[in-house]
Amino acid sequence: MMPQTPEQIAPPVRCISVDVEEYFQIEAAQSAVKPDRWCQWPTRVEPCMDKLLALFDETNCKATLFFLGYIAESHPQLLRRCAQAGHEIATHGSWHQRLHRLDTSTFREDVIRARNTIEDIIGRPVLGYRAPTWSVTTQTAWAVDVLSDLGFVYDASIFPVHHPQYGVPQAPCEPFYVKSSPGGPMLLELPPLVWQALGRHVPVAGGGYFRLLPLQMMLTGLRQAAEQNRPAILYFHPWEFDPDMPRLPLSLTGRLRTYTGLRSSYDKLRRILAYGGPWQTIKQSLDYCRAIADRNSNFTLQWRAA
Ligand SMILES: [Zn+2]
Repeated sequence: MMPQTPEQIAPPVRCISVDVEEYFQIEAAQSAVKPDRWCQWPTRVEPCMDKLLALFDETNCKATLFFLGYIAESHPQLLRRCAQAGHEIATHGSWHQRLHRLDTSTFREDVIRARNTIEDIIGRPVLGYRAPTWSVTTQTAWAVDVLSDLGFVYDASIFPVHHPQYGVPQAPCEPFYVKSSPGGPMLLELPPLVWQALGRHVPVAGGGYFRLLPLQMMLTGLRQAAEQNRPAILYFHPWEFDPDMPRLPLSLTGRLRTYTGLRSSYDKLRRILAYGGPWQTIKQSLDYCRAIADRNSNFTLQWRAA
């Protein structure tokens, strides 16, 4: 039997992330519930997060929580409790608008407001950003320049898959340095877990894929990433563990993607956490992620700069 190399016997790098938002702020409800109507829906984020915090505590998981600025402003005590429990606090922007609806200046304002609010409450710097609905794509490459200029250490918004609303399928499936255009600044990019099968990137990292697909697919993705020494970043939302949330007037597809698998999701997450970590924050895994990004060439979102 071949001896194992240190890389092979090192524990895998695995991170749980949560986009901390309300059930009525999802993209599927974008046309039905505009931000000026958010206040008309009952808040449910805090008890959902409490369930997750209890599970993380029980399983010794430290997670990275991408807080929406709106949640930080409306639930500062929740944000404080999450930070005090040892989780990393990052940001999901202020108003949960896909970047395709913003431009460089409105995006900048959206991110600055969220980051300032969070940093004022927890008294610690925010290092990472995740765009609503994975909306850093070739069409919104300018976001990389804004995030880099604002001093973000990493972005976790590029999903290297085919999807009608998001995704950069040709992007690497492990940490890499991204540029908007050949002359632009570089930013560390941390994609969510994909399973490489049949020459494709199969999304298995969380969200609807977590609730709609058999759990075995995510576990297979985790195992493959460990074998390939790739970090595995999973993602969840508090409302995915809230089967009794009020139902929104969504399309048939929206209802299917949003409301399927809510009753079994908590147990499934427990099984994922038990599958094996150690589950650490993205911040704790940054040295490893940078080392992986250093071994790859930079990835440019737009080869032909405008
Ligand atoms: Zn979101």
